[in-house]
Amino acid sequence: MVKESNNKSNSITLNPIGIVSSPYKEKFAIPRQPGLVSTAKGTVRLLGAVSNIDSVRELQQFSHIWLLFVFHGTQNQGWKPLVRPPRLGGNKKIGVLATRSTFRPNPIGMSVVKLDEIEICEQDVILHISGMDLLDETPIVDIKPYVPYSDSLPNACAGFAQTQPKPNLTVKFSEQAQQNLTKLESEFPELALLIEQVLAQDPRPAYKQNKIDEKIYGMNLYNLNIQWKMLDIENIEVINIID
Ligand code: SAM
Repeated sequence: MVKESNNKSNSITLNPIGIVSSPYKEKFAIPRQPGLVSTAKGTVRLLGAVSNIDSVRELQQFSHIWLLFVFHGTQNQGWKPLVRPPRLGGNKKIGVLATRSTFRPNPIGMSVVKLDEIEICEQDVILHISGMDLLDETPIVDIKPYVPYSDSLPNACAGFAQTQPKPNLTVKFSEQAQQNLTKLESEFPELALLIEQVLAQDPRPAYKQNKIDEKIYGMNLYNLNIQWKMLDIENIEVINIID
């Protein structure tokens, strides 16, 4: 991994303008792009001077926004010029700038998310968002409206990422998991759908895909630990949901 020396004359300081609250409490199982799990709901709480009703005036006209953020969970791990995108099965190396890898020369990410509501509560400005691919507590360094006439280019070429990866796994719930869901329904009404959408994307490492796998996996959503296993190469069973 390349680690940069701290050359002050070339450095740029960015201050977070917001902080994300997300159901994804760890990197594992976060979708690899926004929009793949529409039931993932969270917020961006604006910070400091930007947390001001004027900063968001007329933003409600836009259904979607760009979030520019720092990959804070991996930023200390450096970067390499060549990376292995999961989309290519994890065994072909390509240039980091030809990917959306988190390990970049500057750890900046960009995601389009749905803007569901803007909540103003005294000095707090909170954007309610959905469909994000972001770790909890991700620092936001800028927010811009999504502008379809310019930001959407349906005829653009996108090489190995031309089409949206289709969820290829079916998710079933054990009797135990169904009881857990019933118990948690008032607190997390869309939990079953969220788990289904997340797991259908197959969050396992790329080399495990389409392989028999007997491991029991765990993932954290909200304050819940969800345990699951592969029944065969196309079916997942959620075994238990622990709160
Ligand atoms: N849509 C963004 C982009 O294109 O810049 C991010 C794409 S990146 C492939 C998505 C992955 O980044 C997620 O699956 C998750 O593992 C990881 N991730 C999300 N938020 C992160 C954070 N704050 N720090 C480190 N990794 C993060």
